[in-house]
Amino acid sequence: MFGILGSDIDAARLTYFGLFALQHRGQESAGISVSDGKNITVYKDLGLVAQVFDEATLAGLSGPIAVGHTRYSTTGSNSWENSQPVFRHFGWNAIALSHNGNLTNTSQLAGTLGPLAATTDSELMTEVIAQQMSEGGLSLPEALSAALPRFEGAFTLTVMDTTTLVGVRDPRGFRPLCLGKLGESWILASETAALDILGADYVRQVAPGEMVVIDENGVTSRFPFEPAESRLCLFEFVYFARPDSILMGQTIHKTRLRMGRRLAAQAPINADITVPVPESGMPAAQGFSEASGIPYVDGLVKNRYVGRTFIEPSQSMRERGVRMKLNAMPGVISGRRVVLVDDSIVRGSTTRQLVTMVREAGATEVHLRISSPPYRWPCFYGMDTGDRSTLLAADRSLDEITSVLGADSLEYLELDHLIEATGAEPDSFCTACLSGEYPTNVPLTDSKFLLEGSI
Ligand code: SF4
Repeated sequence: MFGILGSDIDAARLTYFGLFALQHRGQESAGISVSDGKNITVYKDLGLVAQVFDEATLAGLSGPIAVGHTRYSTTGSNSWENSQPVFRHFGWNAIALSHNGNLTNTSQLAGTLGPLAATTDSELMTEVIAQQMSEGGLSLPEALSAALPRFEGAFTLTVMDTTTLVGVRDPRGFRPLCLGKLGESWILASETAALDILGADYVRQVAPGEMVVIDENGVTSRFPFEPAESRLCLFEFVYFARPDSILMGQTIHKTRLRMGRRLAAQAPINADITVPVPESGMPAAQGFSEASGIPYVDGLVKNRYVGRTFIEPSQSMRERGVRMKLNAMPGVISGRRVVLVDDSIVRGSTTRQLVTMVREAGATEVHLRISSPPYRWPCFYGMDTGDRSTLLAADRSLDEITSVLGADSLEYLELDHLIEATGAEPDSFCTACLSGEYPTNVPLTDSKFLLEGSI
């Protein structure tokens, strides 16, 4: 998610580069909305940023204010209608909204609104805000102040009208948002890596519960919510965020190295090589190798060009689907006792195939070391995990999980060690998928497609 406001800038092109740096956060669709001061134009489509935009489309998006989005769906199917930014036009003004997170009161909110074209919580939020502006005659910041307390759950937003850019984090701040500056232009981005790609300066994180309003007069800050305890998603540190991004003052890469070091101390093993699962398991594997003295070897090769838009292989190929993304190298694995290090196991199907692949490459033993605790509970705040029945660790013991995965041993990093590795206070985080302790009420019966009538 990205937003920029300046003067005499090509906001859409800068947003394109910002989104390019944030591609890992969503690979289903991409979009940019831009204002020339009077009108908003939106261009979005299914696919990766570089597939959706080219010189011709960017040339048609001129103006000094823009908002961009890459989508990873957690409510509603992957369709053009559900891609973002969501747009509303209502006579004297228009808005475009990008959302990262997932509302937990989607059903109640939908019940208060009429039929809509799209089937996402983001669409509902846009409708509520647009109604405040069109019917109440409110400015965008006023409309947001009135609308935001009606939303529950995880919602980090970048919203624009024709003259103003606004960034919002929900009161618990489940998803990150930072503020940056490029010359005289102000930037909002999910991660600092999007500032780096533009050579912009990092100013600060937007605080949980904060709304930052950016217009031609600069930046002002408001707090439209009842105060609540901050709960950043712990999985931002484990998996979501780029290793070169900075969160809570910590470089993600360094925190993942520390996770690996703690894992080696907590769960030692006699083995010959440490093999990372590319790419998110690599820093933890490096830390594990450093602390254990077991040499780090790139025994798995990743095809970098496989994204979510990758055409699904036929059924017979899908059974060996992980080979489309990863392949083992017998030359470095054969005859060795392997420690395979990954950041997490959610459903377990990929891990099971990887263990088989490493054995077929000649490993004499395969020991799994995971740099986060067992993922036992579904996420309602912006990670698409499905219901509890799909989670490998939901109701299984460690021995049962080890057996399902076909490993010789399995150990997970304990929760307190993981939190220590982040360098932040223990009560800073949402840990619900690992601990079952949800920081808000959650709709246990709602499905991802609840607005599509297929609960
Ligand atoms: S439940 Fe897990 S993935 Fe979801 S926000 Fe909380 S820590 Fe993150």
